[in-house]
Amino acid sequence: MEQAAKNLKSLEMLASTDSGYRQLEQESESEKNQFKFLTLLTQGKYQELDALMMENPHLIDTVSSKAIFLLNILLRGQKIIPMHISIRKPAPALIDDLSYALIELYQNMHKLFEIAEIDFYQQLEVLPNLAIYFSDYLLKNVILREQSDRQDLLNKTKAIIFDDTKFADLVDENLRAQQYRLQALYYRRLGQDEAAEQAIAHYSENFQAGTSYHLEKLHTEFACPSQEVLPQLGKIYQEVDAIQSEVLVQSGIYRDTCFYYQCTDCCKRDFPTVSLTEFLHIKNNLSKAELEKFKTRAQAIQDEHIKEFGEPMKIVDQTTSSKENPHEFKFTCPFLNEADQCEIHSDRPLACRSFGLATINNQDVQACKFYLNQYQANSSHRAERIVYDSRETTAMIGGSNKLLAQEHGFKNMKQPVGTLVAWLCLNSKS
Ligand code: SF4
Ligand code: SF4
Repeated sequence: MEQAAKNLKSLEMLASTDSGYRQLEQESESEKNQFKFLTLLTQGKYQELDALMMENPHLIDTVSSKAIFLLNILLRGQKIIPMHISIRKPAPALIDDLSYALIELYQNMHKLFEIAEIDFYQQLEVLPNLAIYFSDYLLKNVILREQSDRQDLLNKTKAIIFDDTKFADLVDENLRAQQYRLQALYYRRLGQDEAAEQAIAHYSENFQAGTSYHLEKLHTEFACPSQEVLPQLGKIYQEVDAIQSEVLVQSGIYRDTCFYYQCTDCCKRDFPTVSLTEFLHIKNNLSKAELEKFKTRAQAIQDEHIKEFGEPMKIVDQTTSSKENPHEFKFTCPFLNEADQCEIHSDRPLACRSFGLATINNQDVQACKFYLNQYQANSSHRAERIVYDSRETTAMIGGSNKLLAQEHGFKNMKQPVGTLVAWLCLNSKS
């Protein structure tokens, strides 16, 4: 009896596994169709795609395939009508998903194939949520346009995002709150930070942020051979700064969060870890007198460390398990002056530059609560956190570090790293 019950159970499981397979098959079928649709679309075979979809309406079975269907209509210069979205009365959630998918698709296609410009605002009657997603797309991408086009684009977007009627019909408060976020993006583009902060404050009051999110990453295009990294580091930093400015605008983050919150915590703890390459860059840009001044400050900190732990902070190999600050000793960075200003601001290392704005592992944002609160409040309706992807830059500096390690006598180290104190004290008594 017991065995029979067990057999029955396993049969039930088989059935559910089987239906699982069927679902997988359906999903893979949908993906195959979408690939086919996209191929026709990018080849400009609009009529062929239209015929395929008209003859097989059952193939338009996902939001993505419906978005391709709509994009095809628009590319043929036609207007979307309610019938195209759903035969029955379309649900608000479907309208939202479709608007989002349509703009996302357009954005990806635009990047890849530079296809025709479409004025999605002309479709607001049928897809009112395009007011959010198309404005978001335009404001975020205006930087890619020719200078002469930018003002037109900004004016056009302004006409929509300051018109309350365009947002009045959106279904929930969170969607309506997007109007303020877009206004903040617009003001930031104009460099009107105060107006941007006010708009962000309205947005935060009206927006219920979720806890889940995904990262959207911006990265620099700058590639440099290892032996060139040190002489080019100033330029690499400029590239990083440019992309991070874009992160600030797109994520609605204060231009200078640390200053805004009057916080210098990061410069007064066990932070940051600096590579040989980055330290040499700092050193090469200091006069002899400046270097001596910072060495004296560093030596005082190192002396305290020795007094407390009986050993100095050392240069270690990052590829081994040794730690550059094993006692997690807290100290004020030798480059921070009495007015709490960084004295090497334009040459400060990547860790200082990118904290709060970057991911180093493709999964998390390295940030303090002040940044995280802003990401939480300012993320888009789709819960994106737009950050700088620092992996390529870090790898570039890593390649250079390995090379320089040999030249500078770190024969047994692949990646020499240390606190700024350890680097500054390297040639002093310690
Ligand atoms: S990053 Fe955050 S914790 Fe660090 S100094 Fe700036 S505001 Fe303070
Ligand atoms: S280098 Fe500048 S920004 Fe970095 S910890 Fe030191 S003082 Fe702060």
